[in-house]
Amino acid sequence: MQQTPDTQDTKHSTEYDAVIVGGGMVGAAAAIGLGQLGLHVAVIEAREPQAYDPEQPLDVRVSAISVASEQLLSRLGAMETLLTMRHAPYDGLETWEMDGCLTSFTAAQVGQTHLGYFFENRLIQLCLWQQIRLMDNVDLLCPRKVTQFQRQSALQRINVTLEDGSQLSTRLLVGADGANSQVRQWSGIGVTGWDYAQSAMLINIHTQTEQQSVTWQQFTPAGPRSLLPLPGHHASLVWYDDANRIKQLSQLNKLQLAEQIKQHFPDRLDVNFSVESSGSFTLTRRHAQRYYQDNLVILGDAAHTINPLAGQGVNIGFKDVDVLVAQVANAIGNGETWWQAPVLKRYQQARYYDNQLMMTAMDVFYASFSNDLLPLKLLRNGALKLANIDSPIKRKVLKYALGLN
Ligand SMILES: Cc1cc2nc3c(=O)[nH]c(=O)nc-3n(C[C@H](O)[C@H](O)[C@H](O)COP(=O)(O)OP(=O)(O)OC[C@H]3O[C@@H](n4cnc5c(N)ncnc54)[C@H](O)[C@@H]3O)c2cc1C
Repeated sequence: MQQTPDTQDTKHSTEYDAVIVGGGMVGAAAAIGLGQLGLHVAVIEAREPQAYDPEQPLDVRVSAISVASEQLLSRLGAMETLLTMRHAPYDGLETWEMDGCLTSFTAAQVGQTHLGYFFENRLIQLCLWQQIRLMDNVDLLCPRKVTQFQRQSALQRINVTLEDGSQLSTRLLVGADGANSQVRQWSGIGVTGWDYAQSAMLINIHTQTEQQSVTWQQFTPAGPRSLLPLPGHHASLVWYDDANRIKQLSQLNKLQLAEQIKQHFPDRLDVNFSVESSGSFTLTRRHAQRYYQDNLVILGDAAHTINPLAGQGVNIGFKDVDVLVAQVANAIGNGETWWQAPVLKRYQQARYYDNQLMMTAMDVFYASFSNDLLPLKLLRNGALKLANIDSPIKRKVLKYALGLN
């Protein structure tokens, strides 16, 4: 894919229907979705993603993309290109704590060919950007940063001033600018949340084992240990642990880290691997107190950051995009002022409690597996064993996780 070094679009004007701050996976998806409605959209992004080259080492930041997200990416025109790049489909998900108490979910249980794909985050973003560049009514301004927002209440618009002094005026300001959202902070929308005691280390390994199609996770009192299949002889290991322990691990060289993995990952991991790259991340839970004001919405990590132990973060961000675009489309069809609170409230109503439920479910998992008390351990392993029985409830849970409900 060709990339121009500076993606400031010469066609850009100053009056927009929607200005999106943040051209990450969620912001770029929102830009295409709103652009497909015929709206005039600008995306402001601070950093240009590196162009794709199949020979590049795999990025450490990867995401499990659910079936629902795949469907959205197809509608946005990005999925076809994405599948020509590096990817790994998976059709099984297994989780356990004590040996013999394994729960497994398969695509066949819910009539699917696969449960999802693992992609590098950057490739998802690049494919969305490729689509944006094909759209005459969507301008991609990158690298650009915002210095100021100003509400023009009488005009029902918001002015956005960029670092180079240029000004954009918009009916709808969309904050898709990640966990530390400048849009959310400027709007005065508060957040509730906390930092988890655990951090996570993502480690890309080269495996002797052929391409794998099952992702697995073992719960330990220190935190889960997971394997995410990546294309070819590659996989991503996720090591959740106490923040100090992750800090120690991140100071090791590749050989030392491989030794630690061999000692602390389950036997299921084929020990014939080498470490390629790694990165560590602090884990936070944040939920904005609301998702909208007149002329303003937030979505994706700007609205919520979730414990990544079930790989749901960007998937719930994509659901936000899907719902926002559908609500705006309905409002345009009904002749409503789609940038105003009554319409944006419907987006919040459809997403807030769903996101809250997913965040809380992750916290229940996190809390109930983060201890070594024997009665609790037996209870939760009994529950995992029960959960392994194929039942309508199990299929319903799986469908929910895949975003199919
Ligand atoms: C360890 C870990 C593992 C994860 N694994 C998964 C997984 O398997 N599956 C999954 O679904 N999710 C996963 N997630 C979560 C997922 O990575 C995030 O939910 C997702 O990246 C959020 O996308 P976003 O576009 O909302 O925000 P971001 O990816 O943060 O993008 C925000 C963009 O806005 C830009 N920006 C910010 N401020 C400005 C500004 N002022 N001006 C211009 N541009 C700006 C940034 O440069 C960036 O490009 C994981 C997270 C972690 C920490």
